[in-house]
Amino acid sequence: MRALLLLLTVCLPLSLSAAERLRVVTSFSILADMTRAVGGTHIELTNMVGPDSDAHTYETTPDDARAVRKAQLIVENGLGFEPWLDRLLKSSESPALVIQASHGVIPRSLEEDGHAIPDPHAWNNLANADLYIGNIARALATLDPANAADYQRNAAAYLVQAHALLAEAKRMLGSLPADRRSLVTSHDAFGYLGQAYGLALLAPQGLSTEREASAADVAALIRQIREQHIRAVFVENIKDPRLMRQIAEESGAKIGGTLHSDALAAEGPASTYLGLYRDNVETLYRALAGH
Ligand SMILES: [Zn+2]
Repeated sequence: MRALLLLLTVCLPLSLSAAERLRVVTSFSILADMTRAVGGTHIELTNMVGPDSDAHTYETTPDDARAVRKAQLIVENGLGFEPWLDRLLKSSESPALVIQASHGVIPRSLEEDGHAIPDPHAWNNLANADLYIGNIARALATLDPANAADYQRNAAAYLVQAHALLAEAKRMLGSLPADRRSLVTSHDAFGYLGQAYGLALLAPQGLSTEREASAADVAALIRQIREQHIRAVFVENIKDPRLMRQIAEESGAKIGGTLHSDALAAEGPASTYLGLYRDNVETLYRALAGH
C-alpha cells in the first residue's frame, strides 16, 4: 500500500490532492454554482437536484444518501425548501456541518390554507447574494481554515459581479411604467424579485409546485388577467409549459418567455446563478416593456 501511495504521489500529484479536498454536498443547482464559485479547486462538490429540475417534488436517491454520509459540509437553502433533505439528514446521521445558505434573509411569508408559510425563493432577489455567498464562504473557511483567504477572495470577486448586475437590474426593471408591472408565472417563485422591483406577480400554483392548481383557480386567474390587462405570462424552466400556454391563450395575454425559477439551465447563459439572474431580468424587461 505504501509503495502504491508513493507511486501515486510521484505520478499523479493532482489526483492525490483531489482526495484531500473538502467534500461538500449542495441541495440544488443554484447553490451548487454559488458554492463552486467560492470553493473553487479546494472542494469536491456533489449536487442533488440538477439543472431544469424541480426541487419541490424531488425524491432522494441511494447516491444522495451515500454523498450525505461522506460529506463534511452540506449546504441547503432552508426556509422549508428541502423537506426531503431534512428527512434524509435525520435518517442518515451525517456527521457533516449543515448550513442554510439563506440564513439572515428576512423571509417573506405567505398565507396558505390558513397558515403563514415562509417563502423559500430568496435567491430570486439578487440583493440576498451577499448573505448566501457570505454564509457559504464562512462555512468553508471554518472547515478548511488553511484556504480561508482563497474563499474570502473568491467570495469578494463574486459579489463585485453580483453588485454590478444588481445595479443593472434596478435600472432596467425600475424604468418600467406603472401599468406594465404585472405578470403571471406558473408558481409563486418570484415574490422576492417582485418585492425588490415593485412588480405584481400572480401564479396558478402557490409557493410549492407539489399541489396542482384547481380548475377554479385557473378560471379565476384568467378573469383577473383580463380585468387587470396583464400583458405577459411566463413559463418556467422547471415546469411543463402547457398550463401557462392555455392561460395565455384563454386570457389574451402573451407568453413573455421562459424564466428560470428554482434551477439553473443545463446549458447557455442561464447555466450559472448570475447568468440566470441576468437572463430572468432581461426576459421580464423585454416582455413587459414591449421591446
Ligand atoms: Zn419554487
